[in-house]
Amino acid sequence: MESGKRKREKQTKKKKMNNNKRRRKHDQSQQTLPLKPSSFLDKMKARLSSGHFRMINEKLYTCTGDQALHYFNQDPYLFNLYHSGYQQQMSHWPVQPLDTIIQWIKSRGPSLVVADFGCGDARLAKSVKNKVFSFDLVSNDPSVIACDMSNTPLESFSVDVAVFCLSLMGTNFPSYLQEAHRILRLGGWLLIAEVKSRFDPNNGGADPNNFLKATCDLGFASVSKDFSNKMFLLFFFQKKKKQSSVKKEIEWPQLKPCVYKRR
Ligand code: SAH
Repeated sequence: MESGKRKREKQTKKKKMNNNKRRRKHDQSQQTLPLKPSSFLDKMKARLSSGHFRMINEKLYTCTGDQALHYFNQDPYLFNLYHSGYQQQMSHWPVQPLDTIIQWIKSRGPSLVVADFGCGDARLAKSVKNKVFSFDLVSNDPSVIACDMSNTPLESFSVDVAVFCLSLMGTNFPSYLQEAHRILRLGGWLLIAEVKSRFDPNNGGADPNNFLKATCDLGFASVSKDFSNKMFLLFFFQKKKKQSSVKKEIEWPQLKPCVYKRR
């Protein structure tokens, strides 16, 4: 007969062994099982967030800047979602229009004061030595001023270059150009890069000549344009040194919303 003490010792040893066995089994399952479900989950997450990106993107092209500001203010997380989708889309473009603009600013020297309208992650400001005022609907960086860019806090005639890189999104985009016109010095530069499909009259897009004419009626002179890239158009304007005192009724063409295909 085993003594009670021995019996209890044996039982605890058996329990420990079983526990260890169970733990090993659990650990193994933790090492092998997650691979499949997590890759499936990752795929689902990616699909959901790209769907979400397309929805936010479409919203931004079909509402006013004011409404967009309200939309992001209610849930700033949507702005981050939008920007990760945006970066993902841009990674397929062979040339980034922002890089062309950065090169242009660098070639003009660091003394020009720049306003970046719809700056996103403020890469422009981080890439040049110039003083850059960066505006966007949400500020994720202390250097970015959060506002609707039809109403910036800058003084009139205070900047040398106004940049719009893929940011003429709102249905009220003429009011953004009007704001740029207000803050630019006489002779100051207006640089616009926009998605090519928005200016394809054969596909519901605007006629680039009508856009040029309207921008000139606002008080700019068209200096040059570059339509050679297959993804985007570039326009270079200068604020006329002599501004007309008569305010013209400007006929702005509608810019077609840029909606992304499902990948
Ligand atoms: N210029 C940047 C980001 C382009 S994405 C780049 O080239 O990388 C377009 C940006 O314009 C978005 O960040 C969007 O939030 C901003 N935007 C659109 N409408 C705006 C408005 N009314 N006021 C301020 N920013 C706006």
